[in-house]
Amino acid sequence: MRSIAPNPPDIEDLDGRCFHEHEVTSIRRDLLDWYDRNKRDLPWRPDDFVGENVEERAYSVWVSEMMLQQTTVGRVKDYFPRWMSKWPSLSHLSQASQEEVNSLWAGLGYYRRARFLLEGAKHIVENSGGIFPRDAAELRQIPGIGNYTAGAIASIAFKQPVPAVDVNVIRVISRLRAISDATRESKLLWKLAGEIVDLERPGSFNQALMDLGSAVCKTKAPLCSGCPIAGSCKAFLLQKQSADKEVAVSVTDFPAKSIKAAPREEFTAVCVVELLPLGDDGSLFLLVQRPENGLLAGLWEFPAVLLKDPKTSAKTRRTSVNKYLRSSLGLSLDKSSVKTREEVGSYRHVFSHIRLNMFVEWLQISSTDDNAAMEAKTLPRTQWVKYSALEKMGLTSGVKKVFSMVSKHRDKRQGSKRKTP
Ligand code: SF4
Repeated sequence: MRSIAPNPPDIEDLDGRCFHEHEVTSIRRDLLDWYDRNKRDLPWRPDDFVGENVEERAYSVWVSEMMLQQTTVGRVKDYFPRWMSKWPSLSHLSQASQEEVNSLWAGLGYYRRARFLLEGAKHIVENSGGIFPRDAAELRQIPGIGNYTAGAIASIAFKQPVPAVDVNVIRVISRLRAISDATRESKLLWKLAGEIVDLERPGSFNQALMDLGSAVCKTKAPLCSGCPIAGSCKAFLLQKQSADKEVAVSVTDFPAKSIKAAPREEFTAVCVVELLPLGDDGSLFLLVQRPENGLLAGLWEFPAVLLKDPKTSAKTRRTSVNKYLRSSLGLSLDKSSVKTREEVGSYRHVFSHIRLNMFVEWLQISSTDDNAAMEAKTLPRTQWVKYSALEKMGLTSGVKKVFSMVSKHRDKRQGSKRKTP
């Protein structure tokens, strides 16, 4: 799993913390030697990409790096080959739809990344004929490519001697130079990472630094005795020097831990609306598209209303949902329209910064004139989808879970003879 350092690499004052020439030489040599002996065999990491098409190489690095952000290597190992077989090049990807991309991405989370990949592919095809810019500054102009990804593509694919700083690299550099406040010193860390990057094998060097941070220079229990660059590590030196002192220094003091804000709790009433068919056609389910900005931007979900009070009663939740369905979506909910309406249960979906608690209900309505008219005209950012199509759409795992809860409940109520519409 990869988290990215936020700030751009420009700083003037190194405050005496730069690497000496002999340290740069030994760090490059020892780290690359360690990497060559220890690097993992990963599908997106051919050996220095010798002799490969440079555009394919850049595309492959870009896709893998986007997937690796906030996702484990094990998981990306499953998704990366599927992606590359469906869209083997930038040009193939640029012709995909957002739905197709979301569908393949489903389960990886943080759907913005999938969106950025598609937007970025279209941008490169439209603006530079499908050719990647070669340097990090130009790569950063592409939608969705930030400092880290630009550095990774430029160094790994185009062999540009630029840094790529993720959280593992922040930790290693902070310890090498005994820098405590990594947040405040972010620009300095980028500068230092840029000083040591190997000029001949910048891509391998950057990956080596990341791998060292992940496998050796771990957050809680670093394996300093097996570290190939311990001889250049100030934190390790300070730890040794203070071993018999009253106040001992530990390498884990660097960087100092930042206090994370507690995740926010949110509560929503989710209504899975099923429109019963007039004839033999199957039921239709109503989906609404989320706003283009913010959490899960542009993705489809069942109609939902945000609740201010987590203790809102079922009756009040239903009143809020009714208001939304009637006034915003134009549905008729009078007695002759509503065939079934039941509470299904609740589900808590965990995002990194939000805990989303969903109260789920199932609402079956008939094709009265109003509802049929609403279905026929289909408002912007809404769609009616058949059961079978819902299963194939690129819905988020939270929406899939809600639908699975309703499906089970519905099957139970309707009996085994009518399990699917
Ligand atoms: Fe990290 Fe220890 Fe190596 Fe220093 S010596 S870089 S703290 S593993």
